[in-house]
Amino acid sequence: MKTIKFAFIGGTGFYDIRNTKIVDQISIETPFGPPSGLISLVELANQTVAFLPRHGLDHNISPSYLPARANIYALKTIGIERLVSISAVGSLSEEINPEDAVIPDQLIDRTYQRVNTFFDKSMVAHISFAKPFCNELSESLIEASENYMNVHRGGTMVVIEGPAFSTSAESRLYQKWGGNIIGMTALPEAKLAREAEICYASLSLVTDNDSWKESDHVSQEKVAAHLASNVTNGQSIIKNLIPKLISPRTCECQNALANTIITKDASVGAVEYARLKSIISKYVQPNTQN
Ligand SMILES: [Zn+2]
Repeated sequence: MKTIKFAFIGGTGFYDIRNTKIVDQISIETPFGPPSGLISLVELANQTVAFLPRHGLDHNISPSYLPARANIYALKTIGIERLVSISAVGSLSEEINPEDAVIPDQLIDRTYQRVNTFFDKSMVAHISFAKPFCNELSESLIEASENYMNVHRGGTMVVIEGPAFSTSAESRLYQKWGGNIIGMTALPEAKLAREAEICYASLSLVTDNDSWKESDHVSQEKVAAHLASNVTNGQSIIKNLIPKLISPRTCECQNALANTIITKDASVGAVEYARLKSIISKYVQPNTQN
């Protein structure tokens, strides 16, 4: 199979790609179970790229139950180096409006019932996460978006557990914390992608004003009103982005796991090695003694 290096994960409203040829659909079983669905290999801008619908084709997986580890592990296994996450988000700022796009550069984690690491059993690794998004990929994404939408460069995304939207008090608190947009899915995806040394950037497409405005509280109906236009623009942006990703990566994401694993090789058993092989094989030797 030809090496595929770019993938995108589609969020709410983004279940397929119009006017594209699906070359193949791959079913991958991972040590963390199956991904959200089949990974489609599609031809876009004269290249083959991978696409995964985050919530499943019928949107039947809630944010708290997304198989984020299986999704990232599967993409790593097929050789993905750069990943764009497309998400519907709410605005926490006066200057960010529905049908705008935001390419965030920071995250605040308000999730509490998701496993957020591959290293949860007998190995320990502490990755750097001060800058949670790949700057290089985010810059390409900003360039690719400018002709299609009103794009905001940078911003802090608050990630909540969901599936209910925020209360008004929470929404106003997140504003005071410096939050600019709010979503439910960028974590643990961004952390897992970093552990997997995959560049990760977010194309956040705004659908609503969350719950901080007195007379404008988010509802699924309000979100749906802006989805169609956002999805059309999102698809154009991805097509525009692909030719910008021809050069090899020069960012630090590709070595993010170097010097972070503090468990001694000798104590990594064959079972744990096999479970994490796609993630750790560059750094850890299998210990066949235990
Ligand atoms: Zn990167």
